[in-house]
Amino acid sequence: MQNNILVINCGSSSLKFSLMNPVNGQIILAGLAECLLTAEAVITIKHQEKKISIALSDPFDHEVAIKFLVDYLTEHQLKKSVYAIGHRVVHGGEKYSQPTLIDEDVKISIEQLSKLAPLHNPANLQGIQAAEKAFKQTPQVAIFDTAFHQTMPKKSYLYGLPYHFYQDHGIRKYGFHGTSHYFVCKEAATMLKKPIEQCNIISAHLGNGCSVTAVKQGKSVDTSLGLTPLEGVMMGTRSGDIDAGVIFHLVEQLGYSLEEVNNILNKKSGLLGVSQLSNDCRTIEEAASNGNVQATLALEIFSYRIAKSIASFTCNFTSLDGLIFTGGIGENSMFIRSLILSQLALLNFHEDKLANETMRFGKQGNIAQSDSTPCWVIPTNEEWVIAEQTYQRLNQEQ
Ligand code: ADP
Repeated sequence: MQNNILVINCGSSSLKFSLMNPVNGQIILAGLAECLLTAEAVITIKHQEKKISIALSDPFDHEVAIKFLVDYLTEHQLKKSVYAIGHRVVHGGEKYSQPTLIDEDVKISIEQLSKLAPLHNPANLQGIQAAEKAFKQTPQVAIFDTAFHQTMPKKSYLYGLPYHFYQDHGIRKYGFHGTSHYFVCKEAATMLKKPIEQCNIISAHLGNGCSVTAVKQGKSVDTSLGLTPLEGVMMGTRSGDIDAGVIFHLVEQLGYSLEEVNNILNKKSGLLGVSQLSNDCRTIEEAASNGNVQATLALEIFSYRIAKSIASFTCNFTSLDGLIFTGGIGENSMFIRSLILSQLALLNFHEDKLANETMRFGKQGNIAQSDSTPCWVIPTNEEWVIAEQTYQRLNQEQ
């Protein structure tokens, strides 16, 4: 097939890629370049059941990683099959609610939006520039993580702050994980055998970053992540919602610098901060099962805050088709799912224990009892959404 899409997800020190058939989601080749900008930089490519890992040579950067990938594609007669490149871009602000063909203006906008996503947008732009150099005329499309949430009404996305902060500086809730929430809701609609436009769903993406989204008639109407990925439920290393007054207390009474507080809330809190062990849910579950009190507490806070967020989003609906769990924890942790559902009995969520034990490691299905509100485990596939939307965007042009 000459219509493959190369999907690129570029972080500050990593570059994840997959070459995909955008129609059926088949992965032709996938891989990861990691530890970029360090002497340990390495690229791993999985192709035809084989996995190769090669150390990258100086200057160990994104451009070198893409160059290596292009050489590999050329050598295996795959380069000509690349119809277009789809980039995951974290922040599209209010400007981008659709897949967007990348040109000079779009790159400038992505750069300007770095104010709102200083850790992500500059890295995404680096990936775009490196791909441009290597692929020259191949069209590139940006798929924004915020785009799916651009349908939120003002009452959901505005904070109770002086209005001019929104008008003058764009301070509002944007939300993230949009491609993931969109994908799993589309899958749920297929299972419900009705168009997504007729589905009312709450979707919980629980990975290292976590978010809950209310999807009404196929559109995002509220989501837990905010201006930044710090708002909402508790996460692996991020606190989620706290009283904003805690920040003043840490600075004014306890003498922390703003930089330290930023680091504490983003990197030292959440599951890691409470458990004092790890941000990895598996490690914490194991410790909890061996009687570790802090680990048990971390899981209790984590699940309660997610259940509370799900319950609060039900005020958007008069009827609900179901709840979705996705992301590394949502797809695999029967323990967390069970804890969350046990706190949502009033909304008629009742776990089917056997189904909950079964739906793990890539399995998809309902884990609720037959007379309960459905609760599906659905493995996410953001890469496929990026490939599909890139392909569709280019075919719109013609
Ligand atoms: P990211 O947000 O970085 O994409 P993932 O979606 O891969 O993260 O999720 C990572 C989280 O999933 C980690 O906390 C990990 O412990 C958790 N996880 C993965 N497998 C399991 C499992 N079998 N049981 C419990 N948690 C799991």
